[in-house]
Amino acid sequence: SGLSKRFPIKRGVFGGAKQYLHAVDDVSFELRPRETLGIVGESGCGKSTTARMIVRLAQPSGGRIDFAGTDITNLSPNEMRPHRRALQFVFQDPYSSLNQRMRAADIVAEPMHNFTDLRGKELRERLAWLFDRVGLRKDMMDRFPHEFSGGQRQRLGIARALAVNPSVIVADEPVSALDVSVQAQVINLMMDLQKEFNLAYLFIAHDLAVVQHISHHVAVMYLGKVVEIADRDSLFSDPQHPYTEALLDSVPIPDPEMRRESVALSGEVPSPINPPSGCRFHTRCPFAFDRCRKESPKMRQVKQGHSVACHLREPQS
Ligand code: SF4
Ligand code: MG
Repeated sequence: SGLSKRFPIKRGVFGGAKQYLHAVDDVSFELRPRETLGIVGESGCGKSTTARMIVRLAQPSGGRIDFAGTDITNLSPNEMRPHRRALQFVFQDPYSSLNQRMRAADIVAEPMHNFTDLRGKELRERLAWLFDRVGLRKDMMDRFPHEFSGGQRQRLGIARALAVNPSVIVADEPVSALDVSVQAQVINLMMDLQKEFNLAYLFIAHDLAVVQHISHHVAVMYLGKVVEIADRDSLFSDPQHPYTEALLDSVPIPDPEMRRESVALSGEVPSPINPPSGCRFHTRCPFAFDRCRKESPKMRQVKQGHSVACHLREPQS
């Protein structure tokens, strides 16, 4: 709730007023058990920082994180331990996130050493079972990550997260580095595992097409803010925010009847150091009017399971 993260920016030797980069600004959402919330936005919108705060790899500057009824925002590493097991992370880049000098089985076993009592033959059996669950052959257990393809490495990253029986997996662009055909395989695998292990996913991507299949709900972020959040079908069939519409226009629509009027994105993403006044999207929004430059639109519900922050969607008084 109300999560924020700002980073101080180093100034020159003569200083000047302290400046901050507002990477995440007042972001709120709910992730329910056994469901997937997709978070989508261009690079630099704060989605990775949000993910890192949720798993406490980054400390929020404001707001709070409730996990299964506990406020975990300020827990010490020791207090965090029981939740750490339940809240696992899958990284974007399987090439750099896995220790290249460890054998695959040891990579997956490492969190089990930290969080479980399994050792020896029992551990080995459990590992073989996990490799099978994520679609890796048993003979790959004793190989090194460089012998794996990109998709196989991400399967390994998923096995490592699964190893300690989490209830939530936060996945930061888990398929962005993979070929499109491999992306679909990994997403299908994650959907199967979700059912089998009762997992909730926070699934981050820069592309709406990637989250469409896997998500129950989708949040769209722009320059550190959530601008729209909705049930998946509602977001794709009836987007409310001009930015979401623009993102959807880059998704191929198979059914020509469903084509909407196109919203073209113009201009670059502004800097989060000095974000635009009012609605942060106003410098690129084809519908911007006077009020948009002055007043930041509040998030409000427009229908069941669908909220948006845009002055155009406010009830007329
Ligand atoms: Fe565009 Fe104004 Fe809506 Fe922002 S508030 S998205 S600038 S119409
Ligand atoms: Mg990122």
